[in-house]
Amino acid sequence: PMTATLLDGKAFAATVRDKVATHVANLKRDHDITPGLAVVLVGEDPASQVYVRAKGKQTVEVGMNSFEHKLDDDVSEADLLAVVNRLNDDPAVHGILVQLPLPGHLDSDLIINAINPAKDVDGFHVSNVGLLGTGQKSMVPCTPLGCLMMLRDHHGSLSGMEAVIIGRSNIVGKPMAQLLLNDSCTVTIAHSRTKSLADVVRRADIVVAAVGRPEMVPGDWIKPGATVIDVGINRIPAPDKGEGKSRLVGDVDFDSCAAVAGAITPVPGGVGPMTIACLLANTLTACCRASGLDEPG
Ligand code: NDP
Repeated sequence: PMTATLLDGKAFAATVRDKVATHVANLKRDHDITPGLAVVLVGEDPASQVYVRAKGKQTVEVGMNSFEHKLDDDVSEADLLAVVNRLNDDPAVHGILVQLPLPGHLDSDLIINAINPAKDVDGFHVSNVGLLGTGQKSMVPCTPLGCLMMLRDHHGSLSGMEAVIIGRSNIVGKPMAQLLLNDSCTVTIAHSRTKSLADVVRRADIVVAAVGRPEMVPGDWIKPGATVIDVGINRIPAPDKGEGKSRLVGDVDFDSCAAVAGAITPVPGGVGPMTIACLLANTLTACCRASGLDEPG
């Protein structure tokens, strides 16, 4: 039986977007400024195309300008850098996102670090990583920011809580750890070499799973009452839905974890929708900073 509170990321994301939309309308009315987000997509990766389309659609829905730059998968590094530099110089563009992963011949670090850090709405530029790591004002990566917003919304203060993050990627695991540390959690980052992972996870008041392995965290790893944030998005075969059908699952086994946890995010409808909402919030923040105006709270 499910005893956990369901943390509804879809509904929360809608409230974030509403707030962004209101702020955007006020910017337009009071200052004649419209925030603009440029998304650069290289190649035809189907998942990336889906994300980029969703980002563009939601950007327009909150009243911002959306600029899409689609480049062939054999684009040269020099040509891609030229696009990034043009966007850096364009005053109508307040946020720049280069959709990852990039094709193998392109150096992702080099490209990301070519973005003006003030426009780096993904928060992946090394200077934003350093600012976050030292607790300074920065652009914060969208997925961990969305997780943090849900945790703060549910718990209020996170101070003193024991947090275990499974996964140490630059995109999710590491920035999540920085954010929770900045909120005074006691933070452990687990990964593929962690010994006795089950015992480590059992200590946690907050579990963040960002692994990319379908349903790998079982309910008996969860301390009763803990909050479980499932970042994973995994597509697995679903023969019960018909031949060739699939469905999305997270990195935690939802049913067994929901029977023990105090609160849990579903997949889909949890962290996923929050990520794009935070991208829009970051773009608005970047625009306000660039324009010397108060930032949204
Ligand atoms: P990465 O593949 O970059 O990182 C996965 C991490 O999990 C690595 O640190 C790896 O350890 C660790 N890991 C792998 N196997 C195990 C294991 N058996 N036990 C413990 N740790 C393990 O993935 P991402 O961080 O980019 O993404 C994680 C998941 O989140 C994916 O499902 C992805 O689709 C999803 N995602 C969802 C987003 C959203 O908007 N909701 C956004 C971004 C990602 P090691 O470093 O030792 O290899």
